[in-house]
Amino acid sequence: MSDGGIRVRFAPSPTGHLHIGGARTALFNWLYARKTGGSMVLRIEDTDAERSTEESRRDILEAMEWLGLDWDEGPGKDGPYGPYIQSARTVVYNTAVDKLLEEKRAYHCFCTPEEIDELRREALEQKKPVRYDGRCRRLPGDEVAARLADGIPHVVRFLLPEGVTRFRDVARGEFEIDNGELDDFVIRKSDGRPTYNFAAAVDDAGMQISHVIRGDDHLSNTPRQVQVYRALGHRVPKFVHLPMILGSDRSRLSKRHGATAVLEYRRMGYTPDGLVNYLALLGWSLDGKTEIFTRRALVDKFSLKRVSKNPAAFDQEKLDYINAEHFRRLEPLEKVTLIYDRLSAEGILPPDFAAEGWDNPAGGGVADPFRSEAARLGVIINVMGNRLRSVSEAPKRLAYFYKDDYQKSDEALKKHLAADDVSDRLTALADVLDAVEPFDRTGIESAVRNLSDTLKIKTGELIHPCRVALTGDEVSPDIFAVVHLLGRRKSVERLRATASKISG
Ligand code: GLU
Repeated sequence: MSDGGIRVRFAPSPTGHLHIGGARTALFNWLYARKTGGSMVLRIEDTDAERSTEESRRDILEAMEWLGLDWDEGPGKDGPYGPYIQSARTVVYNTAVDKLLEEKRAYHCFCTPEEIDELRREALEQKKPVRYDGRCRRLPGDEVAARLADGIPHVVRFLLPEGVTRFRDVARGEFEIDNGELDDFVIRKSDGRPTYNFAAAVDDAGMQISHVIRGDDHLSNTPRQVQVYRALGHRVPKFVHLPMILGSDRSRLSKRHGATAVLEYRRMGYTPDGLVNYLALLGWSLDGKTEIFTRRALVDKFSLKRVSKNPAAFDQEKLDYINAEHFRRLEPLEKVTLIYDRLSAEGILPPDFAAEGWDNPAGGGVADPFRSEAARLGVIINVMGNRLRSVSEAPKRLAYFYKDDYQKSDEALKKHLAADDVSDRLTALADVLDAVEPFDRTGIESAVRNLSDTLKIKTGELIHPCRVALTGDEVSPDIFAVVHLLGRRKSVERLRATASKISG
């Protein structure tokens, strides 16, 4: 262990995307490091050369960067204990293997895969746990030397002492395992690569890791790793095994349950702060009730003591609610940028917007009051207010501002466009809007109110059908602002088209 400083690590294997579970592990490590002023190490565990890919490594780094989980030592950040990628640390593992061999805490094993299979078969037949029986422990030294000299394939196994292995988990208390239950596990494979249990323990020791915070799927590996720390003469770090994350059907969260890759959430338009807030609640809580946390509050409040040992259920609705709260708090410029990008990506915002037959909302060649499409979008988003809960809702909820084939609610059409005189009302409204000056929110509102006075009807009798004609729905933001933002030509065009459709 380090000389008192907190050092944690996130140690992903680059064999796929960074998933929700991995991101939660990364986050808990990060929160603990940032809370305590300790160091966050990112270590890439790529000893499984067949399954590790450069693409996965990039995905993981990109997802961490997007989530805002930075590291103090790791890829791109040299530190005193590097390299931080296991494929570049073979010398370190070999040195540790040599030391253990020399001290007779490890031994060469020449058993063939067939022999190992045979052992397994026998154990299964006798309904006994599958364990290596330690037969190569007893090979005489000169025999070992001769076989090595002959280049006979072999692995190196850890020689488990008699007794028990004990360790403490911060959230779950003491564990005690009889060493008879752990066999002489392989620490170096026949291809010369270290196994996960060995490399992880050698690196945690060598990198002075003070707290190993990881998913509880690794709990069964911990006793073996404790043995390695001890054999190498290192102090054992503190362990925090994070509870399993369950899907909606209470089985371990997996792809079956929907999106699990972090970058998929970015693509769907979640905010990193919203996702971070939600992930923090998967196995941790401040008081069992507070749900909304800024990143800073999480860092302030986080503690390992409040990590739960009970499984945490992934709850999409709660994630959406928390995300909406963060979305609401975004700086306006950030919101507009995110939504602008999303609308462009979905082709809703054509690059040459003005050329698509849409008027400048100001109604002519004069200066556009919204100055640019981004500025107009900014006003739209402002007018939408909390009706817009996430970036992903934007294409659907803002569609009527940008295209004619937006969704129309049958119910709204039936409710507000059925009366006999609606067609006349909409035509009258179109005439008024066609002429009103200035064409701005106030001008539009007084024109609509004057018209209702003239027609001796309630303003609502104009507003409701107008809303359905322009937006396809019976609810919308302030309708006068909607008319203004939609522009004179589009508004008049839709009112007339609706009027002629219902009269015909
Ligand atoms: N590389 C391991 C994994 O991705 C993590 C190991 C650990 O945290 O000890 O599951």
